[in-house]
Amino acid sequence: MKHRVIIRRCERYDPELIAGIIAEGMQELGAKPRGRVLAKPNVVLAHREVFPYAYTRPEFLEGALMAARRVGGAEIGELAVGERSGITVPTRFCFDQAGYPGVIKRQKAKAYYFDECPHEPVPLPGGGALRNQLYLPRPVVRADFLLNLPKFKAHPWTRMTLSLKNFIGIQDDSHRLLDHNTFLEHKIVDLNLARRQDFIAIDGIVAGQKMMLTPDPYDLGAIVMGTNPCAVDTVGCAMVRVDPNDLVHLKMAAAHGLGPMDLGEIEILGDFPLEEIQRRTEDFQFCLERVDDYFADGPLTCTVGSFPEAHSRDYCWGGCPGALQEAVHILRGFDPQVESKMGKVRYVVGRVEGPLNLAPDEKVLFAGACTSWEGEIDGRQVKIEPSYRPPPEHDPHRRPSNDMLLKTGQALGRCVANRGRRWLHAPACTMSVADHVHYVSTLAGVANPNFDLRLLLPINLAYLRMKAGRLAARFSG
Ligand code: SF4
Repeated sequence: MKHRVIIRRCERYDPELIAGIIAEGMQELGAKPRGRVLAKPNVVLAHREVFPYAYTRPEFLEGALMAARRVGGAEIGELAVGERSGITVPTRFCFDQAGYPGVIKRQKAKAYYFDECPHEPVPLPGGGALRNQLYLPRPVVRADFLLNLPKFKAHPWTRMTLSLKNFIGIQDDSHRLLDHNTFLEHKIVDLNLARRQDFIAIDGIVAGQKMMLTPDPYDLGAIVMGTNPCAVDTVGCAMVRVDPNDLVHLKMAAAHGLGPMDLGEIEILGDFPLEEIQRRTEDFQFCLERVDDYFADGPLTCTVGSFPEAHSRDYCWGGCPGALQEAVHILRGFDPQVESKMGKVRYVVGRVEGPLNLAPDEKVLFAGACTSWEGEIDGRQVKIEPSYRPPPEHDPHRRPSNDMLLKTGQALGRCVANRGRRWLHAPACTMSVADHVHYVSTLAGVANPNFDLRLLLPINLAYLRMKAGRLAARFSG
């Protein structure tokens, strides 16, 4: 029997309309919410002014929760919404900015901020693509019905983010950043092996192009639904004419038995024919470019070397280079003219040999633990030593803290300690988007968005609420 995926037309963010469509989808596919129902939207980052298109819209979330109540009825014990936002920002901040608290209250649901929840080890039966077990938040482990609500977006590291990739947001930062490098695709597969998705409804009403944190909006007018993430993502690829073989995590997930990646094994239902969508999306844009090509002409240029793992010697798609792209887009989001104000910066990543041929006023960021280089800068010998360690040397039971203030303090401290030198080495794997923002803004001499008044107070208040929530969770067990 073929896997079934439904594509429905939906041109506007109307919770009633969305609820009707998703309820019909659940009924048609025989997915009945029951017990502990956990909705997992994509709220990787949200800000009403600066990042308005990165997240699953609140009207979509509301429609999905209404649909779950309609179809599940009395069989629903708890209806909840859970997520861990990205780049160390407290999830509470992003939920507030995304307009979620009103939805959650109206739908009598509960919020689980995964940065405040205890994480539990989950074994991967038969071993995973990379690890034998993962840590997941308790609400994810205990959910009887996981309702995945991704945003339909292009992605600069993995080409697209749909239902499989949305699971990156089920871990808190200390676990999330583990293997978020050349093993990102392996990690996505392991997360999906650790936890089943019971129903998927993708917010493709306004999709996102190019970037994942700062996407350009695209009127796609579609909701995509299914019960198998590989089948749904294969159809999602076809909607924007991407070969599923080019979505590496989908290919690996299919190889691990998580579902099909061949349209021949999928029955596409609904009122929005695939051919019509493909005609509509002819101008849908991606951004899967290496940073040395992407930043070729401006004040920021990149020297990219080779990388430590044999399966990905020529580039690290899941780590530092992609984080640099997102960081620069964040700087642009806060100041569209930022590149005209930046001083020259060279970004050096990977194992690089030979002279860098720096301009006299050019600063250098040696980014990432795998980076190495030896040469002269300002007449002095500089040796950047690599400190990259492969996955078996990272113990998932003992993860370093990725606390927002701690990380900010460490990055700014390194910038201060570095005063008087025009190069800086930040040896992390992965070096996060947030760290890139600190280092690039400091070296380029432009405003750091973390101190923008639109963020400073609300994000730090959310941080304090997050710490209180984490403490409360510890005592409540
Ligand atoms: S240090 Fe950065 S670029 Fe190097 S392997 Fe790790 S994530 Fe990739």
